[in-house]
Amino acid sequence: MPFLQYSENRALREKMYHAYINRGNNNDANDNKKIISRMVALRAEKAGLLGYNSHADFVLEESMAKSPKEAYDLLNGLWDAALPVAKQEAADMQKMMDKEGRNETLEAWDWSHYADKVRKERYNYDAEELRPYFQLENVKAGFFKVANKLYGITFTALTDVPVYHKDVTAYQVKEADGTHIGVIYMDFFTRSSKRGGAWMTSYATQSYKDGKRVAPVVSIVCNFSGPNGDEPALFTADEVTTFYHEMGHALHGLLSNVKYRSLAGTSVPRDFVELPSQVMEHFAFEPEVLQFYAKHYKTGAIVPQELITKMKNAGKFNQGFETVEYLAASLLDMGFHTIPVGKEIGAIKFETAEMNKYGLIRQIAPRYRSTYFQHIFASGYSAGYYSYIWSAVLDSDAFAAFKESGNIFNPEVAKSFRKNVLEKGGTIEPMDLYKAFRGKEPDMKHLLKDRGLNKAL
Ligand SMILES: [Zn+2]
Repeated sequence: MPFLQYSENRALREKMYHAYINRGNNNDANDNKKIISRMVALRAEKAGLLGYNSHADFVLEESMAKSPKEAYDLLNGLWDAALPVAKQEAADMQKMMDKEGRNETLEAWDWSHYADKVRKERYNYDAEELRPYFQLENVKAGFFKVANKLYGITFTALTDVPVYHKDVTAYQVKEADGTHIGVIYMDFFTRSSKRGGAWMTSYATQSYKDGKRVAPVVSIVCNFSGPNGDEPALFTADEVTTFYHEMGHALHGLLSNVKYRSLAGTSVPRDFVELPSQVMEHFAFEPEVLQFYAKHYKTGAIVPQELITKMKNAGKFNQGFETVEYLAASLLDMGFHTIPVGKEIGAIKFETAEMNKYGLIRQIAPRYRSTYFQHIFASGYSAGYYSYIWSAVLDSDAFAAFKESGNIFNPEVAKSFRKNVLEKGGTIEPMDLYKAFRGKEPDMKHLLKDRGLNKAL
């Protein structure tokens, strides 16, 4: 990817790109095409034996979407909005190529390269400029204040509990009246023994035993860079987002209030589980919230709003491409898994026919092509790759409820979100929970607006 982005050598970019999109598709010992055809046929057969029309019908019965039709409706609606934006992005890049005096037509191996050039020309945004404003202790305290304003809860540092590493800190979480809710451990910094990424996990899951609430003990783990010499640990904007995300999962675990452990907190369908986490991401860069925490670590000055605006605008750039390549992969996943029992397909032939059906432009390939689509053929996301954007529709719509009220800390909206979503775990159908909170089904227009994809509609 960095090569495609930075190399000026177009012939090598083309070679690299072809090698990349043909992984598992070279008619050699590592070719996956036949395996995929076989897997798709067997999944359909299994679904048929269990009385379903397709593998997707079987899988989606236990999701929030419930059926392939619901997932398709969302994907198609987003597709219609995103594809024209991607085409416009392609036209902008073609202009840039023409300006450089190249007598060439934009191809797939030019996209990252010219996207980078257009981005630099249009926004002049350097992510490092924000870092001095995002000091770890301030970011943490800022989040505690947000949670306090929303739910009345408090976080108190615990110095008398065992921790598994000197970098780990623990906090007691209490209701406004002092009632114990649970404990959260935080483990921020990267170290050689730690797996990559960021996640939330649960050491003790909430439940009721003999009529008494068993308090949860949860943890968030990240891979942020630690303090450097005299400098305190400073976050990037992406790291602040990740922190808010994991804390959103943590609140889902902490505020859980159900009888059975197996249905508590984050034990909900895959297309619903990212709602509590992603909705918190929306709070991170709101002006009211930045006031709490985004102070320069040396001068104490609050981050200038223009810097945040620049970051947000730069973030909307290339969203047509990113949304289309993601949707193309999701539609491919749904296509493979709605094949009826007994139908034989060739993996790449099927992929090409599906993508032509939707009018995907040749400069964009699905984020994962069939022969290296691990999510759906090797890690349990079959008929489930759509769930990332399903959750995104929910979190954008949910945050709009706070925004529309004129106060992002509106206690009534927060109370309803807590009571109807955060406390209920997997005890009730997700769509029923969502409607109880929002009063209606989610509307994709909020997501389109957040991503700057609402132009075509
Ligand atoms: Zn998550």
